[in-house]
Amino acid sequence: MLPTMPDFPLTITAIMRHGTGLFPGHEVITYTGSGFRRQSYRELRRDAERLAYALRDLGVTGDQRVATFMWNNAEHLAAYLAVPSMGAVLHTLNIRLYPEQLIYIAAHAEDEVVIADATLLPVLGPLLPQLKTVKHLIVVGEAGDALDAAAAGVEVHDYHALLAGAPDAAFDWPELDENTAAAMCYTSGTTGNPKGVVYSHRSTYLHSMSVCTGNAMGLSANDRVLPIVPMFHANAWGLPYAALLAGASLIMPDRFLQAPHLARVIEEERPTVAGAVPTIWGDLLRYAREHRPDLSSLRLVPCGGSAVPEALMRALETEFGVNVVQAWGMTETSPLASMAHPPQEAADPWAYRTTQGRILAGVEARIVGDGDSPLPNDGVSVGELEVRGPWVTASYYRDEDTERFHDGWLRTGDVGRLDDRGFVTLTDRAKDVIKSGGEWISSVELENLLMGHPDVVEAAVIGVADERWGERPLACVVVDGKTSRDREGAARLRAYLEGRVAAWQLPDQWAFVDEVPKTSVGKFAKRVLRVMAGEGELT
Ligand code: ADP
Repeated sequence: MLPTMPDFPLTITAIMRHGTGLFPGHEVITYTGSGFRRQSYRELRRDAERLAYALRDLGVTGDQRVATFMWNNAEHLAAYLAVPSMGAVLHTLNIRLYPEQLIYIAAHAEDEVVIADATLLPVLGPLLPQLKTVKHLIVVGEAGDALDAAAAGVEVHDYHALLAGAPDAAFDWPELDENTAAAMCYTSGTTGNPKGVVYSHRSTYLHSMSVCTGNAMGLSANDRVLPIVPMFHANAWGLPYAALLAGASLIMPDRFLQAPHLARVIEEERPTVAGAVPTIWGDLLRYAREHRPDLSSLRLVPCGGSAVPEALMRALETEFGVNVVQAWGMTETSPLASMAHPPQEAADPWAYRTTQGRILAGVEARIVGDGDSPLPNDGVSVGELEVRGPWVTASYYRDEDTERFHDGWLRTGDVGRLDDRGFVTLTDRAKDVIKSGGEWISSVELENLLMGHPDVVEAAVIGVADERWGERPLACVVVDGKTSRDREGAARLRAYLEGRVAAWQLPDQWAFVDEVPKTSVGKFAKRVLRVMAGEGELT
């Protein structure tokens, strides 16, 4: 029997129509470092229409890739709406990647147009001559002298002039098939070349609906959403599209990601939901302890990208009333796949809040052991996490490599446990696992515990080769306060861990560093640490 329901396409155009049509007075507010620029969703829609006209004039008539090289701001949001809705593909370039990676990615995706913030031209400009597929550069703001257009071999346009020259009429958005490409994003490629993930209109729509559900972020038109996580990193966790679907206003921090700026944005614009990686919240906590900003508007802080230290969540909650909820996901999963809201009946909510969360409806998960066989969801068996679902990629763009896919499941490269209620606990990334005497030591657990010590600012634990045990943990820590950066300090920290983990798991090598090196998306760069350890720099 056939259903009576139509095959109605789920598209970003529909998200735009809904968000800007029903909530025309809601706003996207961009922080300028000294004040705020405000744009109503009605005006945002107009800008998206003008941008679509302008892009069409530049030859974007099909599924060409239009890249962005931008911070989180109103213009980036206009591109988020216009590019996919006109049938082209939005490619958010991660401004923090190494030049060779950016050149590789832009060529691999065949980007034809790049929309860039003028403030980022010092980074982008020198690369332009090597971005062979790029024909047009649209600059938001004053291009100034940073750019040698002739050398770059691209046509340079001023964003606002282009929009001002566009017809003042509604754009005739095409009817799109929901299963066409809408946007793409590359993983940061800690090993090998970055891999491209291509989101469809349908996957984006379904992911946005999921973000809006109560088991995720429960967004509504009463929310004011502050995506601190960059729009070039896994679509800012889907917050911009989800906010439009919910009719929530958006507050954009642009390039001002330092704690004093963020504290000001929160105090003055009063977001209810703000998403950022743990490092950002760690900085904000330290700043807030000293300056006591008013953070009371926040009802929910989704946090993830790397394991969220329990000490950080507890401190933000008890000292500032901020409810941090851990989330897990990857570029490959659009990215949101789980959130750690504790069950109401839980005797100890923290037993759940410290997990990576419960798998959201739509996504399916399993743990796979040696030999690729699924393990029981008993909360004890440890193996690689595999996921699948409508917003979980099933391949990489123009990539023959099928190693990461297994019978329709994505091998996440994350190692952990799954319980019978769908809560995932990650103990490591597969490539970071420390195996000592045949037993696994969780670097995530050691890091979490260490970061609970009042003097520890950051802690990253890696495995180093050991003749007897195969590998042993080495802890790299950043300290302030009373802990000294010497043997005595190390002994103190070791003593702090005693009794909290089994004796054989205690790190026996310690290195005090000024800062833990980070990846382009702000995670501990353990590969760099391993190289440093190999070169004897971590003693
Ligand atoms: P990259 O691979 O470039 O770092 P992503 O930003 O997509 O790209 O990172 C996804 C990975 O981040 C996950 O596979 C996982 O290892 C890690 N991650 C994300 N959220 C969490 C979390 N809450 N706890 C632990 N690890 C996390």
